[in-house]
Amino acid sequence: MTDIAKERVLPSEIENEIQRLLRAGDHGIGQLVDVLLRQSVWNKVSDAHFEPFYGGLRVRFRLDGIFQDVVRFPNRVHEQIIARIKVLANLIPHKRDIAQEGRISQSVGGQDIDFRVSVVPTVGGERAVIRIFDPMRALFSIDDLGFPADVKSRFTQLLMDLDGIVILTGPSSSGKTTTMYAGLQHIYQEKGDHASIVTIEDPVEYELGMFSQIEVNRRVGMDFSATLSALLRQDPEVIMVGEIRDFETCQIALRASLTGHLILTTIHSGHACEVITRLLDMGMEPFVVSSSVKGVMAVRLIRKICVECRAPHQPDPRHLEYFSAYRDLSGVAFSRGKGCTACHQSGYLGRTSICELLVMNEELRSLVLKRSTTSAVVEKARALGMKNLLDCALDRVADGTTTLEEIRRVLGTSTGKANGRPVS
Ligand SMILES: [Zn+2]
Repeated sequence: MTDIAKERVLPSEIENEIQRLLRAGDHGIGQLVDVLLRQSVWNKVSDAHFEPFYGGLRVRFRLDGIFQDVVRFPNRVHEQIIARIKVLANLIPHKRDIAQEGRISQSVGGQDIDFRVSVVPTVGGERAVIRIFDPMRALFSIDDLGFPADVKSRFTQLLMDLDGIVILTGPSSSGKTTTMYAGLQHIYQEKGDHASIVTIEDPVEYELGMFSQIEVNRRVGMDFSATLSALLRQDPEVIMVGEIRDFETCQIALRASLTGHLILTTIHSGHACEVITRLLDMGMEPFVVSSSVKGVMAVRLIRKICVECRAPHQPDPRHLEYFSAYRDLSGVAFSRGKGCTACHQSGYLGRTSICELLVMNEELRSLVLKRSTTSAVVEKARALGMKNLLDCALDRVADGTTTLEEIRRVLGTSTGKANGRPVS
């Protein structure tokens, strides 16, 4: 028996189609997976999860960072559905005790979509996660990211001198890669044929076609550091390094940025100023960090209030009290989405970025040379006028883009609390 959850993504005609396909046996299961893949693209979900759940198989879509139940299948079709996914992704269907990864390439609505599949055994049966890569979604320009005008102009300025290192930071799925792609496309548009641009990624998320993209391949020893070393011998002007995680890659990247290359990369961290101390903690010399880093941007994605069902709203007093400790919100006209079919009853539709941009200058460099603490860097950056993530988020509440609930969800405890006041 299929049990469509209350907060559903699928419209009722799809629900009926799923019921019909379930009754059609083996042949129906194949089509059923196709229906779910197509729906995931049409609904612009980032990933689809097929997970064992109370003796059955639950399918959930992640849409704008939030899970939505789509459908629950009875246990009798669990194996068949996972097997069908494995066949499509060229995995070994009868191997059910190992983790497997593969890809499905399918055309949906005339667009070639890349689905990345991961299957992992659990005690309740296999669990599959499919990430959806729609090339149309990668074609963001910096204008589309939602940065405040002053941040946008300072960020693009950092990309125009083809040397130094520019770092993006944030947790997973915070929009770092999208921002990097937008940055690279900006450089490509501005510099055109005067700059050679290469990316090193793990994996290549979107094939953009306008510059060389390299996927790391650890099996043959081509990890980030080995690929970067090899690439430097070809002397490209701009190199995007998907992520810096280890000492060696970090050292090569920083050195390269001092010898006439612009390096664009990401480091997993919370805030812009933390990245500076993180580099020092990774063993980088203060003089190398101070002379190579040009700027660090922290990004997060927040959901936007649905324009179809927006209405005035008085926020939860707890959220109001929490954020009012940081900024006077008494003049703000709050709104929220009441929920409609356009936003699948969530009240939110689409996402935008919030950010904080740390641009290095002489004063900040001297702090780095002295191995100052993160809080000293934060204090100086604030004195120089840097807006933090919380400032940016509250601006977006004040201009009606989002809600206090949403920024509390996204920033969570990262806003911290010092002397009863949220801080960055
Ligand atoms: Zn709505």
